[in-house]
Amino acid sequence: MRETITLQCGECKNRNYTTTKNKKKHAERLETKKFCNTCRKQTAHKEVK
Ligand SMILES: [Zn+2]
Repeated sequence: MRETITLQCGECKNRNYTTTKNKKKHAERLETKKFCNTCRKQTAHKEVK
């Protein structure tokens, strides 16, 4: 069961990425380092609804 989620930059709050995740494997909120075009650097991106 995979669900589409949106990843939001922790610094500028831009929604830069969408991805899917397996809810059984990752029940908690996903957090990953991604390149943000607005911040122009790698930042922590968090799952948002
Ligand atoms: Zn950003």
